[in-house]
Amino acid sequence: MDFSFSEQEEAFRKELRLWLEKNLPEGWLEGKRILPEGEKERGSFLRDWQRKLYEGNWTGISWPKEYGGRGASLMEEVVYQQEMSRVKAPPELNLIGIGMVGPTLMQIGTAEQKSKYIPKILSGEEIWCQGYSEPNAGSDLAALQTRASKEGNSWIINGQKIWTSFAHLSDRCFVLARTDNTGKKHQGITAFLVDMHQEGIELRPIHQMNDQSDFNEVFFNDVVVKEEDIVGEINDGWRVSITLLMHERVTVARRIFDLQEQFNDLVKMAQTLKKNERPLIENPMVRSQLVDYYARTRGQLLNYYRNLTMQIKNGHPGPEGSMSKLGYSDLGKEMFGYGVKLQGAYSTLWKEDSCVDPSWQRTYMTFFGYTIAGGTSEIQKNIIAERLLGLPKDNK
Ligand SMILES: Cc1cc2nc3c(=O)[nH]c(=O)nc-3n(C[C@H](O)[C@H](O)[C@H](O)COP(=O)(O)OP(=O)(O)OC[C@H]3O[C@@H](n4cnc5c(N)ncnc54)[C@H](O)[C@@H]3O)c2cc1C
Repeated sequence: MDFSFSEQEEAFRKELRLWLEKNLPEGWLEGKRILPEGEKERGSFLRDWQRKLYEGNWTGISWPKEYGGRGASLMEEVVYQQEMSRVKAPPELNLIGIGMVGPTLMQIGTAEQKSKYIPKILSGEEIWCQGYSEPNAGSDLAALQTRASKEGNSWIINGQKIWTSFAHLSDRCFVLARTDNTGKKHQGITAFLVDMHQEGIELRPIHQMNDQSDFNEVFFNDVVVKEEDIVGEINDGWRVSITLLMHERVTVARRIFDLQEQFNDLVKMAQTLKKNERPLIENPMVRSQLVDYYARTRGQLLNYYRNLTMQIKNGHPGPEGSMSKLGYSDLGKEMFGYGVKLQGAYSTLWKEDSCVDPSWQRTYMTFFGYTIAGGTSEIQKNIIAERLLGLPKDNK
């Protein structure tokens, strides 16, 4: 493991820093990092940001050049993540397209799918969502019941998905549906690329406790998909879905750099907030808790580097991504919770212009979702136990 960055990587960092200074939304670098309130307004703000990243050649940076990406090395990608975390850049609206659907299509899509979809993913012209989970199929994804049946040259989809992030802002959806009911539940699933702007798609937003409605219930009523929009083979969707999930874990694992920033912010907060005229950081219990968080965030980062080293050597991500996903979401939630606690009575003022930064409360509530999305913490622990530690299989 080598922790230093090469001259080329540092030059890459400098170029990105300069670009961010010029292009981040007004006031962002000075700490005015507020996304617009309404879903529609927030959507258009994020679309603009996605477009800006694309125009500056700062999206899909690890995508191969042949697909319009920057062809950056894994280490440059690390630099990219560090810098984006440092300035707390606005989120990428097309995260699912760029981080998951695009790489999956590059791996197993047809030539036609690649040329039709990949350029518009990168440019942000088409935003993607992921239609996997159903009311009775989350951790046990293979239990999904949404059905697709063949009619002539098309497939007709009926059923319901749930927790579909950004479906209300999406143009296309990567959908898993059952095409055969006769074998084992992992068999008989097929992956479809679905146009979200057609009749038969009904969306119902889900209001979350952080007061946003980022995800939705999605109902499919005789939704039509052409044969050429099947990814992989018919009834081989389980393999396809796992390919996409591997890319999802890699995407989430990169957020580990946010944890380091979060820790720094926590220290700043403890230095600024006072009790009985004295900064909280002078309280030995606060200091002790901060030391604990320092050790754990640092441990998470080193673990991430170790896994990255393995990935560079092996050429592909492995189950180690589960460690970062688990560490990031559980520790992040705990640290945001501690930030809220430090605010004391002010922490209840999260909606108003209060004398403390209300983003702690909002993000704390958002983090509950992060411990569930992309596979719950318990499921990550199962993966770590079985695939990394070699413990006996979950008895399900
Ligand atoms: C913020 C957010 C965004 C999301 N975005 C999307 C999206 O865009 N697209 C999409 O398809 N889905 C999305 N999801 C859904 C997410 O993938 C599922 O919620 C998740 O897989 C868990 O499934 P479930 O909700 O059905 O819970 P269940 O699977 O019913 O789990 C309930 C509880 O049982 C535990 N449990 C289940 N099985 C086991 C086991 N074998 N061992 C130990 N414990 C177990 C779980 O850990 C959990 O605590 C999102 C969820 C959230 C919170």
